[in-house]
Amino acid sequence: MGRQVALESPNQREGADTQVNCISGNCCHPSTWPAKWDMDCIRCIYCPDDAAILARASQIRVESYSAIIFTDYLFTGGMWTTIEVSAGGFEDEGLIVMDADADCHFAALTLYHEVRHAMQPAGMTTYDAEVDAYTSAERWAIQKGLNDSLGLRMTDEFGNEIPSERAIHDTVMRYYFNTAPDAGTPPTEVVRWLNVETNETQWQNVRTGALEWRPSQEGDYMQTNDVSLTGPGVIDSSEFSCSG
Ligand SMILES: [Zn+2]
Repeated sequence: MGRQVALESPNQREGADTQVNCISGNCCHPSTWPAKWDMDCIRCIYCPDDAAILARASQIRVESYSAIIFTDYLFTGGMWTTIEVSAGGFEDEGLIVMDADADCHFAALTLYHEVRHAMQPAGMTTYDAEVDAYTSAERWAIQKGLNDSLGLRMTDEFGNEIPSERAIHDTVMRYYFNTAPDAGTPPTEVVRWLNVETNETQWQNVRTGALEWRPSQEGDYMQTNDVSLTGPGVIDSSEFSCSG
């Protein structure tokens, strides 16, 4: 499963008055977008240049919900407890879930991010899968002329806007491992499992795959697949087409 972070304000549109250039016309101009995304603005951003990505999405079940709440585990105050974490979308074995309240830019990015997850080889670590999805989605957004809504870019020595490895690392560590941004690049280990009775955390070395149980520490965090979803629901697959 791969998740997309939730925006703190789902409809934030930084630089909404700035002209940006979609390959296919004026569709990437935020002034043309409804406050909440719909399939018209998604097709407008993707078509015709990214028809292949929409075609891939049409082969996957895509659903849209106004609340996507995961129940995850956090070790705090000497015990494992469950916490509710809002997500901006996720992909899980043939299902893509989008945030119904997001704006067109965020929804378009989420769709790209989640289709990328669906195309990744099996067996990638969460860290590698998320870094790859954020990096490829941000590279695509730069090409489309979409602005830097998630703060994941930098300028290279030639003055080109490129995805920021550091910012993407920090985002992945914060949202997927509840880890402070200065924890190192890349992380050497991540939480794999937990024991609520013995208060132990199982860590996995991301390079070697080695597993080790240790006493849990304040802030240890583990994502689960336990998710609660609230309407509207399934989007017809025929909507994901540039020819309709
Ligand atoms: Zn992801």
